[in-house]
Amino acid sequence: MTNQRKLHIKSYGCQMNVYDAQRMVDTLAPEGFVETANAEDADLVILNTCHIREKAAEKVYSELGRLRLAKDEAARAGRDMRIAVAGCVAQAEGGEIVRRAPVVDVVVGPQSYHHLPQLLEKARREGRAIETEFPVEDKFSALPAPKPAAIRARGVSSFVTVQEGCDKFCTFCVVPYTRGMEVSRPVARIVDDVQRLADNGVREITLIGQNVNAFHGEDENGKPSSLGRLLHRLAAVPGIARLRYSTSHPCDVDDALIEAHRDIPAVMPFVHLPVQSGSDRILAAMNRRHSAADYLRTVERFRKAREEIAFSSDFIVGFPGETEDDFSATLALVAQIGYAGAYSFKYSPRPGTPAAEMRETVTTATMDERLARLQELIDGQQAAFNAAAIGTTVAVLFERAARNPGQIVGRTAYLQPAHVMASADIIGQVLPVAVESLERYSLLGTLAAPSAPLSRAVPPVMTTGA
Ligand code: SAM
Ligand code: SF4
Repeated sequence: MTNQRKLHIKSYGCQMNVYDAQRMVDTLAPEGFVETANAEDADLVILNTCHIREKAAEKVYSELGRLRLAKDEAARAGRDMRIAVAGCVAQAEGGEIVRRAPVVDVVVGPQSYHHLPQLLEKARREGRAIETEFPVEDKFSALPAPKPAAIRARGVSSFVTVQEGCDKFCTFCVVPYTRGMEVSRPVARIVDDVQRLADNGVREITLIGQNVNAFHGEDENGKPSSLGRLLHRLAAVPGIARLRYSTSHPCDVDDALIEAHRDIPAVMPFVHLPVQSGSDRILAAMNRRHSAADYLRTVERFRKAREEIAFSSDFIVGFPGETEDDFSATLALVAQIGYAGAYSFKYSPRPGTPAAEMRETVTTATMDERLARLQELIDGQQAAFNAAAIGTTVAVLFERAARNPGQIVGRTAYLQPAHVMASADIIGQVLPVAVESLERYSLLGTLAAPSAPLSRAVPPVMTTGA
C-alpha cells in the first residue's frame, strides 16, 4: 500500500484554475496524497497560479518567499517538503521561476499537470523538473476520474471544462499564450463526466472554458457540436437541475445558444458576457471584434428569448489611449444594460501582448478614479437587482450548512446566496424561498411550500447614472 502523504494546493485566479486544482488532487490521489488545509504540514505544496494581471503573478513570488521558510522548517524537523508551481505563471515564466525562487522543485504548465506524478519522481531523482510544453496527448483522457467520495465531498455544484485556450488574441490578454489555441473536448467525454457527477449527487454543472461559447467539440456522429446543442444533451442527464456556462465572448453567441435559454428550463437565466469597454475606438484597439451596438443587440437577443435573463460582465479601465469620452461611453453602456453585477479591473500591461507596446498609457491616478466611478455605478445596479428580490419567491439550490447554526445556504438562479433556517436534508434540492430581507449580498427568507409559484425577477434596466 502507498504511504499517505499530505498535499496542499493554493489556487489563484479563474474558475479554470479551481477545476484544474481538483483534477490535480485526483491525479495525485493514487500516489497516496490526501489534501491538507495547512501548507506547513504538507509534503507537497502546489501553487496553481494566474498570470492575467501583474498583481496576480507577483503574489506567487511573495508566497514562494513564505514557503521557503516553511520548507527550511520542515527540513530541520527531518521532513522533505516539495514545492510545485503550476498554472499560467508556470507556463509564461517557466525556468525563470526557479532562477527567482530556487526553492521550487517542479514547474508544470496548465496543459501538463496530468504528468505531475512523473515530474515529482524526476525532481526526486534529478533535483528539479520543468514541463511547459503543450503535449500532444489529450490531458483530459489521461486524467484519472475523480472517486465518488471526492465528488460527494466537493458538493452539489461542479465545474466541468469543455473547452480550453483561445484564438481571439485580444491585445491586452495573455490567455492565448499561456493556455494555447482553442481546443474543445468531445461531447461523449463531457456527457460521461456529467453523468458521473450526477450519479454522485451533483445537481448543478457550470461548463467552463476561456471562450466557452466557441465550443465545437465532436458529437457522436463525428460532427462539431455547438454549446447550445451540448446544453440540450446535458439537460437530459438524470439528476442535473441547473446548467451554467462561463466565460462567453459576445462574437460567439449563436442562435443555438439563445434558443437553449428559451427552450431549456435547466439553463439558468444568468449570463456572464464580458464587454471590457463601451467605446468602439477602445474595443477596436483591444481587438474585441465587435462594437458597443453589436453587444447591445446581443443582449437584446437574449432578453427576447427569456425575459428574466440577467447579465454580468468584465471591464478594463485605463486601456492605453482611453480618454474621458471613451470612459463615458463605458458608463453609458453600463447604464443602458443594467447589470446584476460585474468585475472591473485596472489595465495591467502583460509582457508579450500587443497592448503592452502601446505608448499612450493612462496614469494610475486616472485609472483609480475611473475604476471607483465604474464600480460605484455597478454596485448601485447590483444592490438594486438584489433588493428587487425582496418580497418575491425564488428557486434556490441548497448547497451546504451556513456558518450561522441552523441555517442552510444555497444559490438563486442569479448566483445570489440565499439563507433559510432548515434541516440539512434540503441540501441538493431546488426549493422555493420567500425572500424577506437582504444582508449585504445575501438574501434571507423562509422555505415556501414546494408548489409555491415562483416570481420572475426582471433585472433593473437603468437609463441614468452615466
Ligand atoms: N475570455 C474572457 C473574455 O473574453 O472576456 C475573459 C478571460 S480573462 C481570464 C478574465 C478577465 O480579465 C477579462 O475579461 C478582462 O476583463 C480581465 N483582463 C484580462 N487581461 C487583463 C489585463 N491585461 N489587464 C486587466 N484586466 C485584464
Ligand atoms: Fe483573453 Fe478572453 Fe480575449 Fe481570449 S477572448 S484573448 S481569453 S480576453
